Amino acid sequence: MQKQIELLMKLQDIDYYVGELERSKDYLPDMMERLKRETEDLQEALESHKKRLSEAKLEQKGLEIEIGANNEGLEKYQHQMLTIKTNKEYDALRIEIDKTKEAIALAEDKALLLMDEIAELEEKIQDYELKADETRKTNAVQLEQLQTQIDAVGEKMAMKDDERKNVLVRIPKDLMSAYERIRRGRGGDVVVPVRRRSCGACYKQLEPRLVQEIKKGDRVITCDSCGRILYWAGETE
Ligand SMILES: [Zn+2]
Repeated sequence: MQKQIELLMKLQDIDYYVGELERSKDYLPDMMERLKRETEDLQEALESHKKRLSEAKLEQKGLEIEIGANNEGLEKYQHQMLTIKTNKEYDALRIEIDKTKEAIALAEDKALLLMDEIAELEEKIQDYELKADETRKTNAVQLEQLQTQIDAVGEKMAMKDDERKNVLVRIPKDLMSAYERIRRGRGGDVVVPVRRRSCGACYKQLEPRLVQEIKKGDRVITCDSCGRILYWAGETE
């Protein structure tokens, strides 16, 4: 009987491994997708910052031209001041001069803000470039490893399938169908150790007589609560 329990445990290990392989068919491509997206997101952030930088530089150039033109205008008005003949002309010119000065002040304020923004953007772009480069390199290594894992899944599956068949032929049919039934019904482990005199899966307390029988290992004993096959693994806490 101990031998059969050992075979069932071996089968359980194989089935667990096969289950992991099945799951890996989903999560390995997911992991690859996430790594690719991480690099793409950084690249996108880098591009959008670069785009904003060139816009800001264009705006800066525009402001410089505007300030230059307004300064020229101001000079012209101040020159006209010298040839003014009437109060009305003076007032009109005064208004123009004030307006131009205001426009220059406004443009200079904007230019200052832009200068700050440009400095900040340049710093961020440098950070993003470093980070994107680093991430691309580390992710490329991981992507390659993941691809290798994906490529190997089929082969591993076939190997485990062979192993399973070899174990299967050595397990009596009724025990095998009990195993399959519990596995389908409960999921998780089918063969579980006795822990603290209880079922290792559902923690149902076992009668001392039953524990003795499990220890002896003369027949297959299942938990009357969850139906899993119990085995003795020593005095486990
Ligand atoms: Zn149980």
